[in-house]
Amino acid sequence: MSILIYAESAEGKFRKVAFELASYAKKVAESLGTTVTAVTINTEDVSELSKYGVDKVLKVTNNKLSGFSARAYADVIKQAAQKEAAKLVLLSSTTDSIYLAPLVAVSLEAGFTSNVVGLPLSTTPFQVKRTAFSNKAFNITEIETDIKILGLAKNSYGIFESTDAINRVCTEEDFIPNIQDADFNVKVLSVEKGSGKVSIADADIVVSAGRGLKGPENWGIIEELANVLGAATACSKPVSDLGWRPHGEHVGQTGKPVATNLYIAIGISGAIQHIAGINSSKVKVVINSDPEAPFFKVADYGIVGDAFEIVPQLIEKFKAFKAQ
Ligand code: FAD
Repeated sequence: MSILIYAESAEGKFRKVAFELASYAKKVAESLGTTVTAVTINTEDVSELSKYGVDKVLKVTNNKLSGFSARAYADVIKQAAQKEAAKLVLLSSTTDSIYLAPLVAVSLEAGFTSNVVGLPLSTTPFQVKRTAFSNKAFNITEIETDIKILGLAKNSYGIFESTDAINRVCTEEDFIPNIQDADFNVKVLSVEKGSGKVSIADADIVVSAGRGLKGPENWGIIEELANVLGAATACSKPVSDLGWRPHGEHVGQTGKPVATNLYIAIGISGAIQHIAGINSSKVKVVINSDPEAPFFKVADYGIVGDAFEIVPQLIEKFKAFKAQ
């Protein structure tokens, strides 16, 4: 019995969540006395996984899988799990994996729980802690099925190099799953890429702005601040609805979830639907001209003032700091 992880990549390169998942799987494998196998889809170089404790990689290379197809990808993961007789299948909580996990669970007749934070509390019975109600509460979930599937919440565990990485051999095996035409009944016709240089999914820092910025012509300072910090840019829902920013940047309950180390919200009021999506970010900084803005109630640090005065000063300070 091994643990199987789906190590996600984008454009042939691993996403950071793959390394967090591998680190987590390694720790769980140690406590269960088992090994970690990863399945990858069209990832160019898989050797990096070894560093984080993966013992074996099943490499899938197939042009038909160049665009994301939930059913086809789920089928690949199911077949990899069956090949490895995996009793524990781990996925991250990215948008793709949230689509995949229930499909994999149904096909393996497995119990699934998402948004897992932390290592299993117990393995017999199998219990994990997870966030609930848009990150406002935790619950303890028990999975009773023979095969178990977990979706690990982003940034909830961290990335750790394995202590035995130098001596351990990680084997790579080409894996050719049987893919059905029926898996492609739903096709991705186009992909709208975010304009930011860093993707929200992979970012450690997100600089996000709202209607307080008054119009799309004012986003230069947001992009510059993001640039200086190596951050991704994001926005509130009305901003993308108005067409000021691409929809891919909309974060919140109905947009992308953000679980970064640092979330900087500029000119965003802090409506409950926005907070619901960014709540699990570790440090929240708010810049708003209204001291009564609800965002200040959930902020770790707050600056009351005009974004058009504060943000340029922050950019200068960060530039000077980096130059030192
Ligand atoms: P506003 O509410 O207009 O706030 C602008 C803020 O900017 C104010 O606090 C103001 O004080 C401040 N400001 C103004 N000028 C300045 C200045 N010069 N400097 C600094 N600050 C300034 N919203 C989301 O974001 N994400 C979601 O996923 C989402 N999902 C929703 C789902 C549903 C079903 C519904 C009903 C709503 C949803 N919303 C969502 C909308 C949400 O309720 C709010 O309307 C929205 O978040 C407000 O966006 P905002 O803060 O950018 O704008």
